[in-house]
Amino acid sequence: MSKRVLIIGAGGVGRVVTHKCAQVPEVFGSICLASRRREKCQTIASELSVPIETAEVDADQTPELVRLIQKFKPDILINVALPYQDLTIMDACLETGVPYVDTANYEPRDVAKFEYHWQWAYRDRFREKGITALLGSGFDPGVTNVFCAYASKHLFDRIDTIDILDCNAGDHGHPFATNFNPEINIREITSRGRYWEQGEWRETSPLEKTWDFDYPGIGVKRSYLMYHEEIESLCQNIPNVKRIRFWMTFGEQYLTHLKVLQNVGLTRIDPVEFNGQPIVPLQFLKAMLPDPGSLGPRTKGQTCIGCLIDGEKDGKHRRVFIHNNCDHESCYREVKAQAISYTTGVPAMIGAKMILDGRWQQSGVFNIEEFDPDPFMADLNQFGLPWKVVELGHESLPI
Ligand code: NDP
Repeated sequence: MSKRVLIIGAGGVGRVVTHKCAQVPEVFGSICLASRRREKCQTIASELSVPIETAEVDADQTPELVRLIQKFKPDILINVALPYQDLTIMDACLETGVPYVDTANYEPRDVAKFEYHWQWAYRDRFREKGITALLGSGFDPGVTNVFCAYASKHLFDRIDTIDILDCNAGDHGHPFATNFNPEINIREITSRGRYWEQGEWRETSPLEKTWDFDYPGIGVKRSYLMYHEEIESLCQNIPNVKRIRFWMTFGEQYLTHLKVLQNVGLTRIDPVEFNGQPIVPLQFLKAMLPDPGSLGPRTKGQTCIGCLIDGEKDGKHRRVFIHNNCDHESCYREVKAQAISYTTGVPAMIGAKMILDGRWQQSGVFNIEEFDPDPFMADLNQFGLPWKVVELGHESLPI
């Protein structure tokens, strides 16, 4: 029986989630897209071949969300607004008894911290209410966590190390732009690097460690060690894993621009006074940069995101790279968005589908790797994110 989905956030990812839900009417029979500005929802609605509802909502305000939920009566809510809204939206879901899905962990506005503890603190309340909250159902976090769960279930008897590698080899032709919300993206990249080894967190300076990795379909790209939120849940949910790291590629031009912006203070997240008004430099910078949603028609090339996993199977060493390649131009042709939004929005739709069709229905707050990976992996192949497992050689890791 088809169900009702409420999507919050009409940005790049919200566009893809809405398009993908509309492609699966047997699951998502009625769709409402709500965001801070209704006209953005209406633009997305006008691209679809099925009618949907739209609404204006300030997702920082739980009572406004509760009123919208009581009016639309969704069976599930997908949060693709910003990480700042995670808790107010979870509060509204609790109050109304609606399952919750997101793609990024909660962040307070005034400190760039990517930690799950604020959302894990809701576990008892979701359990008692009898509803599911699925955290991190994007690509990374999201698909990468599911790749690890799949490897643990089918490919390895023991996983020793996980390296998550994220390459965007797309070219949008701008001297500097970010592929998703610039404020969130720059806060993430300028933070100190952190990885998990032998039960401890180890820190690096921002972008200090590099690795020239050969990405299938793309070639060798310099990748930089960063902290990423999925490490925090994977180190708890993948048994006996010894080390987890996260790497992302950046071009020279991107890094040079970022360095200048940092040096002149434009990436600061604390308010400064300008003409008698307090402004947050990073928010001002966001207003100056190209809207990630506008990059779709001009971005060419591919992404390759995957997990390099090392361990043992049947008494022998094994190393695999499970990954997906996604083409920016094909994404744009299908849903009018570039591959970064696409690779996030498709898994958000699939996560909601898993809950609605009962396969991932459990009361409480869960990270995505805690559920059975098999139906999700099958849906990735069906809904536009096919994956491959490549066996790699036995030589020791380059770094
Ligand atoms: P965008 O900035 O393009 O979109 C965010 C949308 O949320 C905008 O439409 C914005 O409105 C709306 N919004 C912001 N604040 C509020 C509010 N208070 N109330 C209602 N709506 C609001 O971001 P993206 O689409 O690029 O990213 C969406 C989410 O996906 C982010 O949380 C991001 O961190 C996450 N993400 C996850 C990834 C993953 O792989 N796991 C990868 C990429 C992104 P307005 O347009 O008016 O500003």
